[in-house]
Amino acid sequence: MRAVSDVEDDLVTASLDLPAQRLPIGAASGTRVVKQGDAHSPDGVQSPSQSGSQVAATRRVRILVSNDDSIYSPGIATLAAAASEFGNVRVVAPDVEQSSTGHAITASRPLSYRPTKLPGIEAYRVNGTPADCVALGAYQWDRVDVVLAGLNQGLNLGNAIWHSGTLAAAKQAALLGLRGIALSAPPPDDDDSEALKPWIRRALEILLPDPTLPLVNVNFPRRPRGFVWTRVSVRRYDGCVVPMTDPRGRPLYWFTTSALEGAEPGTDRWAIERAWISMTPLRLDLTDEKALAACRSTRPLDEKAAASENRPHEPDAELSVREDEAKAPAAAAAAESDD
Ligand code: MN
Repeated sequence: MRAVSDVEDDLVTASLDLPAQRLPIGAASGTRVVKQGDAHSPDGVQSPSQSGSQVAATRRVRILVSNDDSIYSPGIATLAAAASEFGNVRVVAPDVEQSSTGHAITASRPLSYRPTKLPGIEAYRVNGTPADCVALGAYQWDRVDVVLAGLNQGLNLGNAIWHSGTLAAAKQAALLGLRGIALSAPPPDDDDSEALKPWIRRALEILLPDPTLPLVNVNFPRRPRGFVWTRVSVRRYDGCVVPMTDPRGRPLYWFTTSALEGAEPGTDRWAIERAWISMTPLRLDLTDEKALAACRSTRPLDEKAAASENRPHEPDAELSVREDEAKAPAAAAAAESDD
């Protein structure tokens, strides 16, 4: 548990290590544009009131929208419609639901990318995971500026960062050097989805122009009162196994989640319980800095030798490691050779 809470500290308190090319993009009106030739320069933002020739040389920001509920989820249509007020939107999303598939990528079969009719939005469906969709979407659409994931029909609080496909889509964006924003809400009642729209727009107004936030997890309560910045709630894991039997009496198991009580103040769960919209800045580096420092000082291994070693750079060694990373498992390789 200690390690987990340290991770929590790291996730929220450490400063973000930002590549220089983070892009501040269009503000509230959604009509601001970015120079075509300089999309990743902070200086690229211009207002539409500038001269015609300047506007001609500009482009609107490119917003890739994905999710894990599938391309046919009403949530993605809601988010894409809100995003289209801020830039050019393209939807690339799984062809079937991929909730709780986490950050899986499809490495053992090829993926398809098929045009799909969504009202007023250019959209493509992929027979893969949310992370696949973002990777493929960024490959197919040059210079994506930001990835929005959602609107997920179900909250993604606390430990959900580990299994959420919605968050994986946003994380994949951050891994690619883009910005990623995950947005989740409870499954809608009849009157909820319309009521949330202005809050979604406001969240985008806050987050889209901010280049200092490469990865953010946003959760909306049913009837929001406003916004708060939060940290991840990781007091204890909320997964549980529920046993049952099939019609023949054989044991089966559901893996599910149970409600947690007593969320820590300032966390995402705490905020949602109080009807605040939760916005959690995340980072990709999960290194437990406190544990690392303690290990190095109390149980030093060969760090000194490794650091002082003055061997010349060996490109062969680097290449060999990359090849090992890319190698298929032995079983898969054997199956391929059987074909
Ligand atoms: Mn989902």
